[in-house]
Amino acid sequence: MTAPRPAAFVAVGSELLRTDRLDTNSLLVARLLGRCGYGLVEKRCVEDDAGAIAAAVSELLARAELVFVSGGLGPTADDVTREGVSRALGLPLVRRPGWEEELAARYRRLGRTVPPIASRMAEILEGAEVLRNPLGTAPGQLLQVGGSTLVLLPGVPSELEQILTSHLLPRWVRMGGVEARTLRLAGVYESQVEQRVSPLYTRFGRERATILAARGQVSLVLTASGPRAAEELAEMEAAFAAAAGLDLYGQDEDTLPGVVLKLLGQRGWRLATAESCTGGLVGFQLTSVPGASDQYVGGAIAYSNNLKEKLLDVARELLEAHGAVSREAAEAMARGACALGAECGLAVTGIAGPTGGSAEKPVGTVHIAVATPRGARHARHQFSGNRDMVREFSANFALDLLRRALVEDR
Ligand code: AMP
Ligand code: MG
Repeated sequence: MTAPRPAAFVAVGSELLRTDRLDTNSLLVARLLGRCGYGLVEKRCVEDDAGAIAAAVSELLARAELVFVSGGLGPTADDVTREGVSRALGLPLVRRPGWEEELAARYRRLGRTVPPIASRMAEILEGAEVLRNPLGTAPGQLLQVGGSTLVLLPGVPSELEQILTSHLLPRWVRMGGVEARTLRLAGVYESQVEQRVSPLYTRFGRERATILAARGQVSLVLTASGPRAAEELAEMEAAFAAAAGLDLYGQDEDTLPGVVLKLLGQRGWRLATAESCTGGLVGFQLTSVPGASDQYVGGAIAYSNNLKEKLLDVARELLEAHGAVSREAAEAMARGACALGAECGLAVTGIAGPTGGSAEKPVGTVHIAVATPRGARHARHQFSGNRDMVREFSANFALDLLRRALVEDR
């Protein structure tokens, strides 16, 4: 494994230096770069000031092969990235006639005329390649500076990501990058995964596998480089997948709700949800997947006992005898969800905190129940963390319990 090639990132925007907004673009870039053999060695936030931008660009170009500048490419007076870079490199900004027309056409399609200030966005550094921005008006720019590459990208995260993934990453990956595969696991904690895969670190090299945890989901990022990269990656993947066993739900771009919906589709079953403490988080995750309506019919957010009775037909006596946070309640809610019009029901009820806990049922106690035509499943969990964390753990573990039922109960 060779060391990643050095890249650097400059986030331009005075708002990033105050409390209004966090620089998230550098995280996005760092994540995407991992696939093509570059790694960030430095990142900076600078204010909307041409001098500050010029200084950052000059200094970082001296130590990185790839330098990104994000933001400050819009039409307003505070967008001075073009001027800053022009100053740093001693290169003029040129108005590209073709791009002025393209901008005008874009505004026409939106039923607007080009505001006079917008024509600044057609100013391109002499010799730069223009990077089309299908989601916005300000194009990106790419320029070779000595042995390094300088890339200017719009600050809006979706626009930056689109330009990177559509134009740039495929190009860099082809230039001989790193082969990478992300294995996606759920229904398990990071420490459990670590224990099972740690023998493989010695076999393949500690620096080639990264473990990332996110509240009920764990990712294993595997990388290989060099002439045998593809073969080595395949070997690593097989070994890590075997260690992950049934906790493995997918790879790379797979998502847990996406996989659950696919499994439901393969069986021709529909799903309804009954959520208490997650307040719709499970439904939110499922409906984030395009085409979810083929399998997901919807559900009930039954937070009060009254609504558990009314919407899900959970018996009052059951709630009085066992409490709303109980195996019995969760199972009744899952059956109630099925009765809304689906073959499968998924229910979550728990105590997200910070109040409402007791000695018998402390904060973080969560009951999850699944009902499918092949049977029923229940799990009791004791999650730790604050309210948000308990709710996210609950939603992920709930989707995963359904996934396991769909895979195992045949
Ligand atoms: P700009 O391209 O500078 O006009 O920025 C457009 C929008 O993107 C503004 O709402 C910024 O706050 C946001 N933005 C700019 N830079 C970043 C960054 N590094 N991370 C996240 N959001 C950003
Ligand atoms: Mg800005």
